Amino acid sequence: MNSLKLLVPREADELLTSHVSRLAQLHGSYSASAFSRYLGLNFEALLTGDPQHVSKYAELTESIEENVADGVIKTFGQKYRYAHSHSFTRCHLLATRTKFCPHCLIEDEQSEFGRPGARAFIRSTWQPRFFRVCDVHNTTLVTAVPGGFRFAGDVLGGLAAAGQKLEDYVSQTVSAEPTTAQAYFVMRYNLQPTNLQWLNRLPLQAAVHFTEILGAVIRHGIKVQFDELDTAEQSLCMHDGYELTLKGQKAIKAYLLSLVKDYYRRPTSWINAHAVFGELADEMCRHPDMPGYSSVLTLLRRVAVDNLPIGPGDNFLGVIKDHRRLHSLRTAAKEHEISPRILRSLMIEKGVIPPGSTFRRTVFHPRLINDLIEPARRLGLTWEKNSRIRRQQS
Ligand SMILES: [Zn+2]
Repeated sequence: MNSLKLLVPREADELLTSHVSRLAQLHGSYSASAFSRYLGLNFEALLTGDPQHVSKYAELTESIEENVADGVIKTFGQKYRYAHSHSFTRCHLLATRTKFCPHCLIEDEQSEFGRPGARAFIRSTWQPRFFRVCDVHNTTLVTAVPGGFRFAGDVLGGLAAAGQKLEDYVSQTVSAEPTTAQAYFVMRYNLQPTNLQWLNRLPLQAAVHFTEILGAVIRHGIKVQFDELDTAEQSLCMHDGYELTLKGQKAIKAYLLSLVKDYYRRPTSWINAHAVFGELADEMCRHPDMPGYSSVLTLLRRVAVDNLPIGPGDNFLGVIKDHRRLHSLRTAAKEHEISPRILRSLMIEKGVIPPGSTFRRTVFHPRLINDLIEPARRLGLTWEKNSRIRRQQS
């Protein structure tokens, strides 16, 4: 069989798997998988965007192959996805599970186009993680696999097999406002031109990920666990992060600096990215092989190097290569192999730092101690000697 007898057109933005799911219902088939098999098409292969089966789909539906590319989500192994010319990791773009607005699907079915039971279709735009709120119904989307994973990608078949209705999913939605952030990322996903802004310089996933985690930290602090927030709150986080990015890199760096200042106020002794930037550092480290993340890490690292006593060879979201901007008493003492206590005493005596300056809080520009290194050494207490004396005393 070269093409289908009963054919309804694929809707704009519809996934190919959704179209096959509708065609299967139209032909009275139990599932899209069984229906595809009858036609010599492998539905599971279509679900992974296999080019051979995408071609087969185009042939069966009498479509031009390049016109169906926007309805394909291609998977590469367990981790990577590709759609609309963007690369994603699996948590940022659904492939086997489906995200949908039940209200939209109910309205599809209530329309007068096509046959009842074969009208509701799944939009490609719904599948990226950043799409959380239906901008028609102002409700959150539902993520589900109706009928279980053997019906993955076949929402209509799964619903029928499980004896479910679309209305059963309405209770899983909550009211939420669609955001300008989501609208911006939808335009990026659909390769539409956007206003000039800082986020444009990042590839889509890195831009989304940085924006939503930045917003989560703004709203909840660095200890926030983004994955544990509900969908409506995640949407608000992305919105708040987006509002900050709209102000440009200077404003973003100023906010990151405020996190560094918060770090100094906490009784934490170890300097590392998790202690300073929390969830933002943890999440931005998760996909070092994905495009754009290295730029975000460089931004975080630059703010850190400018404002924390870290320098070449230290690890802060990667090994630091920039020259040192700040010393602490301990890092200066270690670098110059002198006693930190002697150094502190000399610095207080010379008025470089105020009396009572503590080891944990005191930072200064390296050049401020240029004149103190030799006097400290002449006192004869090197870092090693000082450590040895302290060990003997304890
Ligand atoms: Zn809707």
